[in-house]
Amino acid sequence: MSTLGSCETPGCENSAKLQCPTCLKLGIQGSFFCSQECFKSNWKNHKIIHSLAKGENPDGTKETAYNPWPYYTFTGKLRPFPQSPKRAVPASIARPDYAEHPAGLPLSEQAVKGSGQIKILDDEEVEGMRVACKLGREVLDEAARVCDVGVTTDEIDRVVHEACLERDCYPSPLNYYEFPASCCTSVNEVICHGIPDMRPLKDGDLCNVDITVYHRGFHGDLNETFFVGNVSEKHKNLVKVTHECLMKAIAIVKPGEKYREIGNVIQKHAQAHGYSVVRSYCGHGIHRLFHTAPNVPHYAKNRAVGVMKPGHCFTIEPMISMGTWRDEMWPDKWTAVTADGQWSAQFEHTLLVNETGCEILTRRRNSDGSPHFMDKM
Ligand SMILES: [Zn+2]
Ligand SMILES: [Zn+2]
Repeated sequence: MSTLGSCETPGCENSAKLQCPTCLKLGIQGSFFCSQECFKSNWKNHKIIHSLAKGENPDGTKETAYNPWPYYTFTGKLRPFPQSPKRAVPASIARPDYAEHPAGLPLSEQAVKGSGQIKILDDEEVEGMRVACKLGREVLDEAARVCDVGVTTDEIDRVVHEACLERDCYPSPLNYYEFPASCCTSVNEVICHGIPDMRPLKDGDLCNVDITVYHRGFHGDLNETFFVGNVSEKHKNLVKVTHECLMKAIAIVKPGEKYREIGNVIQKHAQAHGYSVVRSYCGHGIHRLFHTAPNVPHYAKNRAVGVMKPGHCFTIEPMISMGTWRDEMWPDKWTAVTADGQWSAQFEHTLLVNETGCEILTRRRNSDGSPHFMDKM
């Protein structure tokens, strides 16, 4: 059995025996005390973190809750919450170059940028990708298990981080251009690249979790949008159609197909349901590098370069919005939101082109390969 460490009361060295029940309920990490006495003596200070996690002021009023950007006009109802510090990865786990770079720069990616050359993987590299993508899938499945009403996205990030370490994986997003967390969690009007924080998920939310793991030199990348509690029919439909967009695009992947055709398939299906396709973020080549050639737009009439060949490895990851396709960024320089505050959904797979079509390297290994939200349709 593992222990809880020591009591959080300053100066108290006793080992911790109880955890704050409110923190447990809100998904706040830590909060361990040795006794009811120590817990009570800390209460006045301790309860402030409950308020923060619930988006309230310490006095219970809600108006001027935590707001790091007083001059920014939000497009929708979602607000940022405090984040936990960057999590550590033991030195025994192999890491990509940007993990060590002071500004998180992926120098190996930047070195080949602009060449447009699409790498053809050899047998050994294909096997490396298969393993990384299978482990990435396992980590996403762990995130799906905990994603629920009242759980913070920071708690999802903690579970993802631990699941990576258990599998001898480095969580690829961590420190990539200084990204501060181990996965992206994108809720409601967030299109992509949301940063996990202390906001507890609410009944009816949509929460996308985007996982990339780095294992023995290769990245595996996938994401799914999950239902949180009871989701409205209109938002369920958005998620269903977004997943269909991805699967219809995957169906055309084969040697000789042009990368620019993918966007035509996706936009046709999204538009038929009255939805729009996000244009600022694209699928990407992936193998020893996290993001590289080809660039894979999801919108129609794009001018993407390249023709698919056996041994190419890339992602398709359409972001589909209920209103405008236009996006903007929160002042954190990561969180992409819809310009009109309407909700957006996304699904992603990593694919390997083979002789007849493609292998979905990040497929779900259950009976029919269906995504998690279908368990709740
Ligand atoms: Zn991803
Ligand atoms: Zn990706």
